Amino acid sequence: MKPLLLTLGMLVAALPAMAATKVATLHPILADLAQQVGGANVEVVEILKPGADVHHFEPAPKDLAEMRGAKLLLASGKGLESFLDKLRDSLGTGVKLVEVGEKIPSIPFVEHEHHHDGKEEEHDDHHHGSEDPHWWHSAENMKRAARIVADELSAVDPANAAAYAAGAKAASKRFGELKSWAQKEIAKIDRKSRQLVTAHAAFGYFCKEYGFEPLSVLSIGRSDDSSSKHIAETIEEIREHNIKAIFPEDQANPKVLSEIARSTGVKIGEPLIADGTAKNAHTFETMFAHNVRAIVAALAPAPAK
Ligand SMILES: [Zn+2]
Repeated sequence: MKPLLLTLGMLVAALPAMAATKVATLHPILADLAQQVGGANVEVVEILKPGADVHHFEPAPKDLAEMRGAKLLLASGKGLESFLDKLRDSLGTGVKLVEVGEKIPSIPFVEHEHHHDGKEEEHDDHHHGSEDPHWWHSAENMKRAARIVADELSAVDPANAAAYAAGAKAASKRFGELKSWAQKEIAKIDRKSRQLVTAHAAFGYFCKEYGFEPLSVLSIGRSDDSSSKHIAETIEEIREHNIKAIFPEDQANPKVLSEIARSTGVKIGEPLIADGTAKNAHTFETMFAHNVRAIVAALAPAPAK
């Protein structure tokens, strides 16, 4: 047996290493997903890195250079990356730009009312269309995204299609397990206490999947544009529904949150990870688990002693 094994080993060593498929990503959660689905068959290059601001990012020339040789460029889509049209023109022909969120069902986004001092103001958020782009807060959406990424990888690298399908299946299973865990955790919160007050409107998909009503003081693009009327309404909601806590975010802790906390007496919860780019939690699992734990800790009744 030994000589045969040795021969096989030598043969494998003599084969040229198969080049991994280069995938560039515009969101850390997409980098995590591409790695989970693609495994050793992909080389993931993060253009938008953990810690960056997804709402105000624009690729620089060095980012374009980093994309060189990529077969796929994964974007979140749903209007999050306002620079995509411009970028498309500067991309070479060898790379396919995929807006992963495009095939994921959108939830309607209700814009804030913007009436300042009785004067009507047209709301024009330059970073977004009318869709909520924060689709990655839903485990079901992440399952859909895993399949989309597997299909796109298979199209550019058909030889490994079976491995990509298996990678997507394994990732979906993990996302399903996370969803079940979250449902169990969230069951500790009374149904009437399931209101999620956050800094910006990033948790619509999360709220839909786990039965919360979302409320936010900033708009979907995190611009600091809350009107005094909107703040007053939020305060009213908090009092009316006996909301226990409000949540700042890792990238946004507007002064108005602490003002609301002061005037209503609610506590301020641990900061949530809203845009999926926290340096210490930029995979779906770490982001999602952090958020669920923080929300349950602040909104569930304290366990009886
Ligand atoms: Zn956001």
